[in-house]
Amino acid sequence: MTDSFNRQIDYVRIAVTDRCNLRCFYCMPAEGIVYEPKKDLLSYEEITRLLRVLGQLGFSKVRFTGGEPFLRKDFIKLLEHTAEIDAFNSIHITTNGTLLQKHIVRLKELGITKINLSIDSLNAERFHKITRRNDFEKVMQTFHLLIDNGFQVKLNAVIMKGINTEDIIALAELTKNYNVDVRFIEEMPFNGGYKENLEMYSAKDIYADLRAHYSDLKEIPSKHGDTANLLSVAGYKGNIGVIAAFSRTFCNTCNRLRISAKGKIKSCLYDDGVFNIRDFMRAGVSDADLADKFSEIIRLKPKDGFEAEKMRKAPETAMQSMSSIGG
Ligand code: SAM
Repeated sequence: MTDSFNRQIDYVRIAVTDRCNLRCFYCMPAEGIVYEPKKDLLSYEEITRLLRVLGQLGFSKVRFTGGEPFLRKDFIKLLEHTAEIDAFNSIHITTNGTLLQKHIVRLKELGITKINLSIDSLNAERFHKITRRNDFEKVMQTFHLLIDNGFQVKLNAVIMKGINTEDIIALAELTKNYNVDVRFIEEMPFNGGYKENLEMYSAKDIYADLRAHYSDLKEIPSKHGDTANLLSVAGYKGNIGVIAAFSRTFCNTCNRLRISAKGKIKSCLYDDGVFNIRDFMRAGVSDADLADKFSEIIRLKPKDGFEAEKMRKAPETAMQSMSSIGG
């Protein structure tokens, strides 16, 4: 399906839970989080039904995220059902990597080998400071396990001034020996209420650090829907990406919809949710009704994240946690 700006929309990101076992300070408060009751989350049957309908509308790529997707009970069952939907030939997961290891064989069997692993620092102390948990070693083990098993890994690191800018080169250096994309993300204001330290370390700052260190950075042409501008260092196996998530410079190639754990559809990361597809489904609508609704939402997709932000009804949702949106 194409939207009114002639963008092909074929990618859906689904947050399967709002719960997480880490507490990254830029995403969630340390405590006092009120989780959604389980009955309010989309069930696996509901998610699979939505995917079938989206498949009929030409969607071919899905990413499961959260919260931490592996925290939801029987997440593998959802993956199994999704793998049975022919339309979705590209199934991706975004995870913190702490709970993945025991599922590695099943993931491989299902052909689900595209994993985005979030890791904001290669220094155990800084990792702890950012995530408020002691799981650095576990995440690194997961990284190596994925690589050793031939998974296509992308590492995501949110870069924050005064917190982990010194990790930029250390993380980029992973691309020397590993065929991975290491992607640096601008911090966004989706942090569940944390308001300090939003002094932006922008994509421009990240580029400047990379260019100061590497004299031979080459730009790699982007593919359909890429949010990262990719670069590579001569002779290195992997790529380095910069995602201007706050500056929003990539909206003209947007190809996605988001669905929150409670079934709220976001046609842009910066809108405050345009429709609750869960309630619509639970009211007993047909698949044709669902398809019509998705078509309407895609048609009305805003031009960019700035337009979406202007159209928000509730500005305070700027402080919504990314754990309910899914990144
Ligand atoms: N638990 C999984 C994980 O850690 O990857 C998936 C959910 S997490 C919300 C998805 C991504 O969103 C992570 O890479 C995380 O770093 C990123 N994220 C969360 N809050 C953010 C914020 N305020 N600004 C930029 N990225 C953010």
